[in-house]
Amino acid sequence: MAISKLLNSSKEQNTAVEEIIKGLIKTKILDSIIIPKRTPEKNFIYQVIHKTEESLANTVAFAPILPVNTATLLAKLTKFTQSEEKVGVILKPCEMRAVVEMVKLKQINLENIYLLTVDCNGTFDIEYYSKENKKTELEQKLLNSFKEGTQIEDIRQACKLCNNMIPTSTSDIGIEIFGNDSGAIVLTAYSEKGEELLNSISGLEDYNTDNRQKNIEAIINNKIEIKENFLTNFQEEVSGVENLTKFFSKCINCHNCMSQCPICICQECFFESSTFDYESEQLLSWADRQGVLKMPTDTLLFQLGRMNHMITSCVACGMCSQACPVGIDVGSIFLLTAKNAQAVFDYEAGRSFEDEIPISTFREDELKDLGE
Ligand code: SF4
Ligand code: SF4
Ligand code: SF4
Repeated sequence: MAISKLLNSSKEQNTAVEEIIKGLIKTKILDSIIIPKRTPEKNFIYQVIHKTEESLANTVAFAPILPVNTATLLAKLTKFTQSEEKVGVILKPCEMRAVVEMVKLKQINLENIYLLTVDCNGTFDIEYYSKENKKTELEQKLLNSFKEGTQIEDIRQACKLCNNMIPTSTSDIGIEIFGNDSGAIVLTAYSEKGEELLNSISGLEDYNTDNRQKNIEAIINNKIEIKENFLTNFQEEVSGVENLTKFFSKCINCHNCMSQCPICICQECFFESSTFDYESEQLLSWADRQGVLKMPTDTLLFQLGRMNHMITSCVACGMCSQACPVGIDVGSIFLLTAKNAQAVFDYEAGRSFEDEIPISTFREDELKDLGE
């Protein structure tokens, strides 16, 4: 049963969270925390492991950008050996969903890890944000949008289509603003670890979340409608080999979309193997057969192979689109195919630690319409 408490603070939301975290580090409830921080020049924000109260200055729990999916950073920390220290991690909901999938894929070990998920109303593309002079205004616009429950025009495409923007019971603690009176922060403990943190924070007040639940339902229903409308049109746009080829026609086969995807975890990627190092004779014979050969080759095959590997675990974070140097909206096509594929198995990536990833297990009673 989740327990919610109101954080009674008049400070700006990022500062209010920073103070709570400082308290958790000071009292050694946590040994360290991973939380986004502004660069000293305040021109960019990236994830940092903080070990001291002092280093927590200029942290941004409700960060306006998502340079890397933090689940991949957590995998670097815990994949080979579990953490011996108590480490807190601030996550956006899409990062939390990636954590769930990566735990199942044995990439993350949650021993001694405390998952703190924030409400999220979107993030800006890193290129757009880094060029923008009015960074403080962008941050403020995001924080205001929580209070008003409004959509922001210039956020990433993945965020415009995201309807999973709040913490769920997979997190230890939710840091929640949407739908609360006057942009107040509410901390919700979803697990024993969460209760441990909540009990160690002083000055919290009891809180009734009925209003939030009511307000958030309307916001989420609106996002679902936006997503469904987009996907209906988009499906038509990309259906069939011809349309799909056109969609990926600018692809330069750099594999950035793969390297930034938290779910693409193969140690040795087939598409980076020598299978695709063709002899010149082979390339010239293909060119000969068709009179022309587009280079680099196998761009569509790469995307189809990647889809085939990981769409049942795609969490729609849109890191792939953000990483694409030629502006292909890879995330939308993965969102579309993942939604369809996951529906077949009544699976939703990141929903729960208990649901088994489809295809990783064989169930005799599934896909009977394909034949027995
Ligand atoms: S995809 Fe959703 S959770 Fe992730 S940054 Fe965008 S709005 Fe936030
Ligand atoms: S395919 Fe794209 S949207 Fe899906 S998990 Fe990977 S990076 Fe995120
Ligand atoms: S990042 Fe873009 S250009 Fe590079 S492989 Fe992926 S889709 Fe192609």
